[in-house]
Amino acid sequence: MDDCVFCRIGRGEIPADIVYKDDEVVAFRDINPQGPVHVVIIPVEHIPGIKEAEERHQGLVGKLMLVAARIAQDEGIADGGYRLVVNQGREAGQSVDHLHVHVIGGRAMHWPPG
Ligand code: 5GP
Ligand code: ZN
Repeated sequence: MDDCVFCRIGRGEIPADIVYKDDEVVAFRDINPQGPVHVVIIPVEHIPGIKEAEERHQGLVGKLMLVAARIAQDEGIADGGYRLVVNQGREAGQSVDHLHVHVIGGRAMHWPPG
């Protein structure tokens, strides 16, 4: 996807504070952090959202979660607790149509979410 902002970050065309990268996933700090720690994890492959994920993406989707947990550990928020968020669609507040998992932590969270 030529004009997808997260594809462009994945390709290195837009600078980002990358905290993890391999052939399948990239993780970078959110430009508008919602907590002391806020990292976004994306698959390199352009998948518009979890709604579009297919059977063949099962391992990749699982990897996003495991990388998220590892980043939380590395960022020092694993013991205090953190939240993993996937916003799907407009009503959930999805603003970038490239599947991503948010890791947010370093502060107390509220439930239910807004
Ligand atoms: P969504 O609202 O789709 O769940 O999350 C998209 C997230 O991407 C938002 O938290 C937003 O701040 C972040 N974001 C959007 N554009 C950029 C960018 O160019 N760089 C970085 N680092 N984060 C971005
Ligand atoms: Zn994309």
